[in-house]
Amino acid sequence: MLNVHESDVDVMIGLECHVQLNKLNTKLFCGCSSDYQNDPPNTHTCPVCLGLPGALPVINRKAVECGIKVALALNCTIQEETLFYRKNYYYPDLPRGFQISQYDFPLATGGIVHLEGEKGREIRINRVHIEEDPGRLVHKGAIEQAKYTMVDYNRSGMPLLEIVTEPDLKSPQEARQFLNKIRNILEYLDVFDGNLEGSLRVDANLSIEGGQRTEVKNISSYKGAERALLFELTRQKNILRRGKKVVQETRHFDEARGITISLRTKEVEHDYRYFPEPDLVVMRVGGWVREIERSLPELPDAKLDRFLREYGVSPVHAKVLTSNIHLANFFEGVASMIDPAFCTRWIADILKGELNYRGVGVERIAQPDFIDLMKLLEEDKITDHGAIEVIRTILDHGGDVGEIVREKGLLKAEIDETEIAVNAVIEEFKGAVDDYRSGKREALNFLVGQVMKKTRGRADPDHANKLLIGRIED
Ligand code: ADP
Ligand code: MG
Ligand code: ZN
Repeated sequence: MLNVHESDVDVMIGLECHVQLNKLNTKLFCGCSSDYQNDPPNTHTCPVCLGLPGALPVINRKAVECGIKVALALNCTIQEETLFYRKNYYYPDLPRGFQISQYDFPLATGGIVHLEGEKGREIRINRVHIEEDPGRLVHKGAIEQAKYTMVDYNRSGMPLLEIVTEPDLKSPQEARQFLNKIRNILEYLDVFDGNLEGSLRVDANLSIEGGQRTEVKNISSYKGAERALLFELTRQKNILRRGKKVVQETRHFDEARGITISLRTKEVEHDYRYFPEPDLVVMRVGGWVREIERSLPELPDAKLDRFLREYGVSPVHAKVLTSNIHLANFFEGVASMIDPAFCTRWIADILKGELNYRGVGVERIAQPDFIDLMKLLEEDKITDHGAIEVIRTILDHGGDVGEIVREKGLLKAEIDETEIAVNAVIEEFKGAVDDYRSGKREALNFLVGQVMKKTRGRADPDHANKLLIGRIED
């Protein structure tokens, strides 16, 4: 029997990631709008994506362009000639009885992705290919008990990229890190919105100690991938502990229960009877690739290097700032007006923390507003504490910096002036203070009036009110 300790198990993980190119206007082989997420079922369909007999597919040039962009960003080699195949299987979400996909002549092969962190290991990409998404089944209730199932073809024919890694990942955590990196790259390329439902689906393969691998199908989130793999890792370890062998099989991830369930073993593995799609010609990309390569934006690794050089930020901060294209752009906008060393801490530590806590993006706060706030801090007109309060207020309720600062009386000058006046009034009108203490609430109005008089109306009455109560009840 193998002695399997927690730490020294040899783990191999390979991922097959399906990402929806959901920023294109139309589907992969027809002119149906791909912006279907908020529309009623079956309203984005036509004979092509419904698989009606005789309907002919036409490849979406933009989808191929996006595919090439992604493949280049993953350091792949684009193949001169690429072919579409029919992948045959029967399922109600696949009206034609086959999916148009790619097989032995994929769009691109042999790439590299760098994981982040000190180790920064290289994960090899086996291939990137283009395929269409099937429709979506909607079960009435839990899948096992559903009385009936409905099918929505809005998603049918959406362009997908399948990104297949070599089995280079060594832990579930690393798999999640890899997925985050892929998402980041896709968002830099502006071909993908990871917030949309079903935008990323993963099949995760895992083996330990050189044994057979299992494939967990249809994981639909980044966290889900890590959880499914953790479950699978433990399950396989337990099999070895009992002196048994893992058998190659396909398993299903039950997201709600956090477990994987056997779907089928190798013997009954599907035979997809792949054959070339006769309705589409061989695609030759030629010089177009160079053109696309020239139009690629700066990618996360390059941006991280530049932030280190140009702004002198720490590696940890550079990583945070480039972990999302919107945050990176936000930072650069602010850093063009404010000392980068100063605003880095405010963006990468404080703002990012507040965003993460709320699970929202940096779009929640307008750049000019944030710059205003940084200026107040630089000019020492607001305390750190006050600035954090402004950020929180904007993220929770919106509003602009000037207004919030005024309403909450957060400017230092105002604080000082009002405080001085409050202290003076308390000294001067001891009688009114005593009245208030013995329950005469209206005495407070008198005291606020005196504060307003002393500050010649510059104090904020609500703020003066709060300060007075605070002092008197101390
Ligand atoms: P198939 O042709 O059966 O689909 P592939 O060679 O295409 O198999 O691999 C599918 C996925 O399985 C890839 O992501 C690959 O990295 C992964 N994989 C292959 N062998 C192993 C293994 N021994 N352990 C874990 N993952 C593996
Ligand atoms: Mg495969
Ligand atoms: Zn259509």
